[in-house]
Amino acid sequence: MLNKVVIANRGEIALRILRACKELGIKTVAVHSTADQDLMHVRLADESVCIGPAPASESYLSIPAIISAAEITDAVAIHPGYGFLAENAGFAEQVEKSGFIFIGPRPESIRQMGDKIAAISAMKKLGIPCVPGSSEPINTENPEHTIQMAREIGYPIIIKASGGGGGRGMRVVHTESHLLNAIAMTRAEAKAAFNNDQVYMEKYLQTPRHIEIQVLGDGQGEAIHLGERDCSIQRRHQKIIEEAPAPGLTPKQREEIGERCAKACRDMNYRGAGTFEFLYENGEFFFIEMNTRVQVEHPVTEMITGIDIVKEQLRVAAGLKLSYTQADVKIKGHAIECRINAEDPRSFVPCPGTISHFHAPGGPGIRLDSHIYSSYKVPPYYDSLIAKVIAYGENREIALARMRNALEEMIIEGIKTNLPLHQDILRGNTFQKGIVNIHYLEQWLNL
Ligand code: ADP
Repeated sequence: MLNKVVIANRGEIALRILRACKELGIKTVAVHSTADQDLMHVRLADESVCIGPAPASESYLSIPAIISAAEITDAVAIHPGYGFLAENAGFAEQVEKSGFIFIGPRPESIRQMGDKIAAISAMKKLGIPCVPGSSEPINTENPEHTIQMAREIGYPIIIKASGGGGGRGMRVVHTESHLLNAIAMTRAEAKAAFNNDQVYMEKYLQTPRHIEIQVLGDGQGEAIHLGERDCSIQRRHQKIIEEAPAPGLTPKQREEIGERCAKACRDMNYRGAGTFEFLYENGEFFFIEMNTRVQVEHPVTEMITGIDIVKEQLRVAAGLKLSYTQADVKIKGHAIECRINAEDPRSFVPCPGTISHFHAPGGPGIRLDSHIYSSYKVPPYYDSLIAKVIAYGENREIALARMRNALEEMIIEGIKTNLPLHQDILRGNTFQKGIVNIHYLEQWLNL
C-alpha cells in the first residue's frame, strides 16, 4: 500500500479521503489555505502544510505549492478529490514528472475526457451512444454550414463549450434567428471561463433524466461498473439530489449500459474511478460526458454495493488489482443523497458565515459526509457544499422515510442553508413517485 498521501482538496471530500487512508493505514498530509486551518481534516491528518492564501488560485490551484508540500513531507502520492485540480491533465503530468503517484487516471485519459468534443468522438468509436450533434468544433468561418447542421439536428439545440464544466458554458437555442448570436456568446463566455473558446452543438433533449454509470478501472486492462445513479434533481444544470439505483431502470438495462461503459474502460485501459454521464429519454441512453475523478454523489453507489470507491482508488494507485470482479458487484437496497449547501434556499446565493450550532442526524441507514461542526466558519472563497446526507434503506420508500427524518433532525444555525428546499422536494408527490426529468425542479419552483 501507499505509505503517505497528500490530500490536495478541502471540505467534506478531504475528510472522506482521510478516512479511507486511515482505514488502510496510510499516513496523511493535509494541505490547506490560510482560510482553512480550522478544517476538520486538517486537525485529523498526521501532518498539515499551509500552501497559500485564501483565494483558490493561490492555494488549491497552485501546482508548485502542492508538489512542494509532497516533497517536504516525503509523501508518495497525491489525491486530488473533485473540483480544483482533479481534472487538470497538466497537474497529473507534473505530479508524475516530480516522482509522485497521481491518484486518478493517466494524464492522457484526463486530457481526452476534459475536452468534450474529443470525449464524444472517442466514445462514438467505442460504441457508446451519444446525443445527436456536431462531432467537431463549430467553425465560425462557415456560418452556412453551422446553420445547415443545426437544421439537420433539429431545434431546439444546445450550444456547449468543449472545455465546460460545473453546469456552465451552455446555451439553448430554439430558433434559427438566434443561432449565430448564441454561438458567439457561448464562445466568449467559454474563452473567459475555461480559456478555450471551442463550442459544439447537440440536440436539446426536452424531458431527459440524468443517469450516470460509475466505473472502476485498474489501469492494467480490467474494469468493472457499479451500476447507475439518477441525478435528475438539478438546478442551473447542477445536481442537488442523487439516488441509486435509478427508479424504473431494469436489471437488463443496467447490465447493458454498464457493460458497455466497463468495456470502453477496458479498451482505454482506464485507471481509477470514473463516471459516464448520460441523458436518458424514452428508454435510450445518450452520452454527454465522462468525469475522470471521484464524484460528489459517489456515496449512494457505495451504500447499494458495499464497495468503498475511495479505497479502490487508493488500491489501484498503489498498483494493486481491484478488490472485486464484475460478478462480485451486487446491488442491494436503495440510497438517496441530499447536498446541503450554505446558500439561500430560493435564490441559491451563497451564504457563508459562522455556524453557531450544529446537530447531526443519525439512526439506521443514515450516513453524513461533512466537515462542519458548531462554531465552524464557512469561508466565502469556495464551493458552498457543507454536508451530504445519505439515506439507505431496503427499498426507496424506506430510504425516503429515513431521509425525511434525517433532514428534520439536522440543525444548522447561524447561516442559511438549502435544508428547507430539500424538505419541500421530498414532500412533493412527483418526486415521491420516483421518475422525474432534469427540468422538474426548476419547473416546480417556477424558475
Ligand atoms: P457539465 O460538465 O457542466 O456538468 P454536462 O454536459 O454534464 O455539463 O451537462 C450538465 C447538465 O446540463 C445535464 O445533466 C443536463 O441537465 C443538461 N444538459 C446537457 N446537455 C444537454 C442536452 N443535450 N439536452 C438537454 N439537457 C442537457
